[in-house]
Order: sequence, then structure tokens, then C-alpha cells
Amino acid sequence: MTNRRHTPHQKLQDSINQVGSVPCMAAPQLFFPEDFPEKDTRDHVIRVARNLCNGCPVKEQCFTYAVEAQEPYGIWAGTLPGER
Ligand code: SF4
Repeated sequence: MTNRRHTPHQKLQDSINQVGSVPCMAAPQLFFPEDFPEKDTRDHVIRVARNLCNGCPVKEQCFTYAVEAQEPYGIWAGTLPGER
């Protein structure tokens, strides 16, 4: 049986709980550029999301989560799926 507290998602959630909030909580839709079919809009959304991630206090833990969980969608720690 898997210990829930040791799952990649739970480790990231613990880090978020410690800092209180993270930038993507305010606008989660910006972190899924796949949902924006128009290229210019998608590129803009990616830039905004990356900037927000660069100021995030749990960026390192977020990157670890995305790699361990093999997140196939979205921006995590400023990375697109092909960058992690
Ligand atoms: S680094 Fe991760 S937790 Fe932080 S804003 Fe970006 S996606 Fe959200």
C-alpha cells in the first residue's frame, strides 16, 4: 500500500501548505496553454505563466513533482511538457 504522504503530489502540496499560497492558485487557467488554440494568445499565456513560476517559492519542489509524476500537460515550474 502506498503511503499517501510520500506521493509526489502530496510532497508538493506539503510545500505549498508551508508557504501558504503560490502564484498559480490565482489564475490556474494560465498554466494550461494547451487550452488556448490561437498561437499568439498561447505564447502570451506561456510567458505570463513562466514569469509567475519564476517568483514562486516552491518552484524547485514543483519541478520535482512534474518530473516524478510525468505531468503530460500544463506548465509546472515554468516548464512545458517537452522541457521536463
Ligand atoms: S512553480 Fe509550480 S506551484 Fe509555483 S506557480 Fe509555477 S506551477 Fe504553480
